[in-house]
Amino acid sequence: MNLNRSIAVIIPAAGSGRRFGSSHNKLFATLAGKPMWLHSVEKLIARPEVACVILAVSAEDEAQFNEQLHAFAIAGKVRVCLGGDQRSDSVAAALASLDDDESIRFVAVHDAARPLVKPVDLSAVFDAAATSGAAILASPVTGTVKKRHSESQTTTVDRRELWIALTPQVFRIDLLRSAYARHRGRPATDDAELVERSGHPVAIVPGSADNLKITFPEDLAIAEAILKQHDQSPKSDR
Ligand code: C5P
Repeated sequence: MNLNRSIAVIIPAAGSGRRFGSSHNKLFATLAGKPMWLHSVEKLIARPEVACVILAVSAEDEAQFNEQLHAFAIAGKVRVCLGGDQRSDSVAAALASLDDDESIRFVAVHDAARPLVKPVDLSAVFDAAATSGAAILASPVTGTVKKRHSESQTTTVDRRELWIALTPQVFRIDLLRSAYARHRGRPATDDAELVERSGHPVAIVPGSADNLKITFPEDLAIAEAILKQHDQSPKSDR
């Protein structure tokens, strides 16, 4: 399928980043010389499949995002909308702000706090969504997972069937719209959960485990090291 300019990207960026422990949104923290949020946005706007990028931001951060969009000369390609209290409210707001442009066939949702996503993984998840209608990047669980039944009783979960969900998560636009229409506020930790609940299967695309979500300040040093390693790797692995 030719995906050229058929994907709208939604970037939820309206969190407070409380666990990051700074008074500023963690997304403005500097990573390798530029704001953390800009890394994945630049990779996404460079893709021929991507028609537009919508950043869902909080009212508090809106002016600073707009300022940086102009400073980095990407205001024409990326627009901002107001997010909500929960991550899913932010995605719903961005989805509602998408025009009824018939050329948009897919929506890719990508956390602003995941600056390390690789172009090869973007290609893989875009292609899988084109085939199956709903696909997410995920990495296999490598540790041993315990279920705690009580203070003194645990069992071990078979990790072979467990995956850590990453982003982007890419859906046919009609599937994501109907999943959100049925959502009605029941908590969900990602968009794929809403699509699963609406009855459509979600395909897993194995992605790089280093597609970290930056949560704590110490994650920034790890992210810098990974970015350096990506820059030194052969083009075909990036
Ligand atoms: O807080 P956490 O890092 O898990 O949030 C994941 C992503 O969702 C972040 O990019 C954050 O800015 C975004 N988010 C949002 N609206 C909220 C809460 C989180 O857009 N109300």
